[in-house]
Amino acid sequence: MDFSLTEEQQMFRDLFAEFAAKEVAPQAAALDAEERPPLAALQKAAQQGFLGAPLPEAYGGAGLDMLGYTLLLEALGRACLSTAFTVHTHTGLAALTVLRHGTEEQKERYLPALAAGERTGAFALTEPEAGSDFGNLRTRARREGDSYVLDGTKTWVANGEIAGLFVIFACTEGGVTPFLIEREANGLTVGRRERTLGLRGLALNPLYLEGCRVLVESRLGAEGEGLAIARAAQDRGRLSVAAMSLGAAQATLDLGITFALQRKQFGVFIAEKQAIQNYLADSSAEIAALRHLVDSVAWKADQGGDYTQDAAIAKLFGSQVALRVANRMVQVHGGAGYMKDYPIERWFRDARALDIAEGPGLLQRAVIAREMLAEKGIAVVA
Ligand SMILES: Cc1cc2nc3c(=O)[nH]c(=O)nc-3n(C[C@H](O)[C@H](O)[C@H](O)COP(=O)(O)OP(=O)(O)OC[C@H]3O[C@@H](n4cnc5c(N)ncnc54)[C@H](O)[C@@H]3O)c2cc1C
Repeated sequence: MDFSLTEEQQMFRDLFAEFAAKEVAPQAAALDAEERPPLAALQKAAQQGFLGAPLPEAYGGAGLDMLGYTLLLEALGRACLSTAFTVHTHTGLAALTVLRHGTEEQKERYLPALAAGERTGAFALTEPEAGSDFGNLRTRARREGDSYVLDGTKTWVANGEIAGLFVIFACTEGGVTPFLIEREANGLTVGRRERTLGLRGLALNPLYLEGCRVLVESRLGAEGEGLAIARAAQDRGRLSVAAMSLGAAQATLDLGITFALQRKQFGVFIAEKQAIQNYLADSSAEIAALRHLVDSVAWKADQGGDYTQDAAIAKLFGSQVALRVANRMVQVHGGAGYMKDYPIERWFRDARALDIAEGPGLLQRAVIAREMLAEKGIAVVA
């Protein structure tokens, strides 16, 4: 297998890295401290054509495949995880769901606006009573003539307060079904922002739907197709989190190396101590393994087959690596690692979310085991 990047992919990788270093990384600390979404970076990313990176050129995108798109998420993940999650939600969850499952009319209406950053996308699946078990939604969409009327509550919707378009999952008579609902819709209210441990630049809000009436044309796919659509988005999302984890792990390792080369104890730089070198070396080895995993799963996704188990493995391993490396690098910093004066404490807080968002690690293990046992003819409900 040859995972070497094409010339075009190398060009995009360099453009993404330059953009992330220049426009995203310098803002990361302020977004965290002020709990402010990365609006300026979103606009700049749109101007460069990055928000539509995996969308076809016909809809204002750059036409990248999943491997190319993971390069964007890795670069953003290396600069600022809040910004990476904001873009992933907008592009990977909202825009790609419209692209893969929308009618031509829906694609023409929304994709160019999403690619241009005129509307920000959000994806509202989770509810207070339905997280991992999202087949058990309580939000209802009642058919009335040429409309549906939605009632219910969604929780932890990333980009909630900045979104112009929501992909909202509800139960119809035919089963779970997504709807494309614009922010201006009557009966849709965005609630107060959550306070979070990390990812403080990512806006997470509840959504309240009270008699929210939308035309039948707002429905995405047929009634009952929602679970398959949500699972496809999750596969992409899990691979995306693995790519962001890769970037974050490299960023924290870089911080650790820099610190270890500046800090002297017992007359030498701590980088000369073998215990510190072990931390750096173990982290480097895990990052190298994660890079191959992300590339191979993205390659598999681009082949068009089922990659549910692969995406779950990449998400599980990636989030573990990112958190382990961040934790080790806090240790390398000693007391400084616990202080707000050093960026490593923000990375540590942010990295904790990588396990939970897009399905916690325990659920990924359940998915991996379910798929593995299915190959042996044993059916398990994850
Ligand atoms: C930063 C962030 C961003 C998010 N963005 C969005 C978003 O944009 N849109 C959206 O809809 N949601 C979003 N979420 C919600 C996220 O998808 C859910 O938190 C996640 O799916 C888990 O659901 P839950 O929190 O209700 O946990 P639960 O499902 O209640 O799980 C609690 C614990 O039980 C474990 N568990 C549950 N079922 C199983 C099982 N079958 N086998 C083994 N273990 C199991 C879980 O792994 C977890 O550890 C976001 C969350 C975070 C933290």
